[in-house]
Amino acid sequence: MSLDYTSHTSPIPHPGRSGPEELVPSRYALKIGEIDVMVVSDGVLLLPGAMLAHNAAPAVRAAWLKDNFLPPDAFDWALNVVVVRSGGRTVLIDAGMGTEFPDLPKSGQLIHRLEAAGIDLSSVTDVVLTHMHMDHIGGLLVDGVKEQLRPDLRIHVAAAEVKFWEAPDFSRVSMPPGFPDALRKTAKQFVAEYGSKLRTFEDEYEVAPGVVVTRTGGHTPGHSIVRVASGGERLTFAGDLVFTVGFEHPDWFNGFEHDPEEAVRVRTSLLRELAANGSLLVATHMPFPSVGHVAVAGDAFRWVPSFWDY
Ligand SMILES: [Zn+2]
Repeated sequence: MSLDYTSHTSPIPHPGRSGPEELVPSRYALKIGEIDVMVVSDGVLLLPGAMLAHNAAPAVRAAWLKDNFLPPDAFDWALNVVVVRSGGRTVLIDAGMGTEFPDLPKSGQLIHRLEAAGIDLSSVTDVVLTHMHMDHIGGLLVDGVKEQLRPDLRIHVAAAEVKFWEAPDFSRVSMPPGFPDALRKTAKQFVAEYGSKLRTFEDEYEVAPGVVVTRTGGHTPGHSIVRVASGGERLTFAGDLVFTVGFEHPDWFNGFEHDPEEAVRVRTSLLRELAANGSLLVATHMPFPSVGHVAVAGDAFRWVPSFWDY
C-alpha cells in the first residue's frame, strides 16, 4: 500500500538494521514487582512534525521543535510495543506496523525483534490492543504470523473500538494523505482475520494477575491503557494517549486523535494520576525505551526518563 507523502524523502541509513544480529538490540527489560516487562521497538515512523500539534500556531510549534533539536518538517516517531509476563501468561501489548507499507520502511520490525529477544510467537497467550490504528495491529497481519500464534490466543480490545471501526469518523483528525484509507482498510482486514479471537471488554479487564486494561477513549473511542502493578510497583502503558509534546502541552491536538478534546481531557487526567502515584510511564510514540516518570511542572508536566540500570 502506498502512502505517498514520504516518497520524496530518502531513507536514512540505519546501522545494523538487517540480519538477526542487530547492532542496537532495541529491547529493554525491567521488573515491576513479580511481573516481567519488556519494551520492544517496532522501529520508527517518519511523520510530519505538524501532526504533534495541529491546533498550535505554526510559529509556536516550530519553536517547540527547534527547542527539542528536531527538524521543522518531519522526524522519526518511535513505535514501542510491550510484552508482559505474569501468572504464567505472556501478554503482547500492541503489535506494531507490520510490513504492508513500503513507504514506512523503518517500521514493522517487531516480529524479528521478538524472536531475537527469545519470545516465541507461540508462547503469547494474550494480545491487548490499545486501539486499532494500523501501527498497533499491523504486526499481526504480517505473512506467516497468524500460523505461528496459538489456536487459543485471546485478543483483548474494547468493545467500543471494534464498534467504531464499523463506520469510523475521520472528521476531526489531521493526518497525512493516504492515512485514513490505509487505517480503514487495515482495521477491516484485521477484524476479518482475527474476529473469532477477539475478547471484547466494556470498561476494564484483568488480562493476567496485576495486568489491567482500561478503556480511556479520546484518541479513538475504544482507546485503552494497560496498568501493571505488583509488590507496590507500577507501570502504565499509555498507548497513544501521551506523545513527547504532551507534558509541556497536554492541550495540543495530535493529528491522529479522532476526538481531540476528549484526548486532552483523558491525557491530562492520566498524567495527573501518574505524577501523584509515581507509576512508570511507557507510551507508544515516545523515544525508546520510553521508561520514566511524570512530574508536575507549574500547570503542565515534565518527563523524567529512568536512569539506565544494567
Ligand atoms: Zn500510534
